Amino acid sequence: MFVRLSRTAAAACCLFAVTAPAFAAEQDFTEALDKGVAVWTDPDGSTPSPERARAEAEYVLGKATFTLYHEFGHAMIDDYKIGWIVQEEAIADAFAGIYMPASEANEARDSLAIGGIRAFMDRGTRMAENDDIDYADSHLTDHQRGFSAACLMVALSAERFGALAEEIALPASRRDYCGAERNQVAEAWLKLIGPANYLDEGQTSKNRITVSYDDPNPELKRVADILKASGLMEAIAKEIETTFQLPFPILLRAQNCDQPNEFWFPDDHEIGFCYNYLDYYQSLGLSVRFTD
Ligand SMILES: [Zn+2]
Repeated sequence: MFVRLSRTAAAACCLFAVTAPAFAAEQDFTEALDKGVAVWTDPDGSTPSPERARAEAEYVLGKATFTLYHEFGHAMIDDYKIGWIVQEEAIADAFAGIYMPASEANEARDSLAIGGIRAFMDRGTRMAENDDIDYADSHLTDHQRGFSAACLMVALSAERFGALAEEIALPASRRDYCGAERNQVAEAWLKLIGPANYLDEGQTSKNRITVSYDDPNPELKRVADILKASGLMEAIAKEIETTFQLPFPILLRAQNCDQPNEFWFPDDHEIGFCYNYLDYYQSLGLSVRFTD
């Protein structure tokens, strides 16, 4: 049983304190996946088999999970006034790579983390096939983002994520350094956020996270209903606000967008999650992975 380190211990030691804890919120992730699967539909409105629904949900909600942690990474960078010397997008990814998987195995949460990496790799392949990779983008390429997150995950647990590393062919030359990479990244987050801002078990940030849902456009109602029914955003919000003493309240708002994306609005301390992000990744998965 994992026991969260006290703030004093967190200052002396690091690795456990800078991995998402494995208690209260774990049940929420299990429920989120189960509830998402229970109402899962395909874009044509049909209901796939329970096995297929679960596989699609792990993939689509998994990608959403990674990106929500990524957006909270932006929130940490701005709200704790953390400077950066490489692209902020890579730093936000490093937050997701550390905090998306929990310290202890949790079937639902691990499946979401694995599904999210698969979606990165599939999109990277799609973009390469279409000769559509934007090398000037401030984000790394999808393949690079997937490999880097998987590297941090396999360093956390080869037992839980070693098969994923094999599946995506994470090269041995990179994998040899994943442990050191994880240590560096995890210790840096602890130092930059500050040990005093890591909450003890049972505590909640005095500044809270509010989750809200805009009325979806008709064509996005299907995925909006899945997202809301799952409670995934609430599960992630709960974990963040019971892990960190947040400097500001944060609004996590699901909304209609003209592109499949997620955003961080630093002036408003607001994360925008676009409904069509789910639609995009479900369509991608159905076109390249869930084809039988
Ligand atoms: Zn970003």
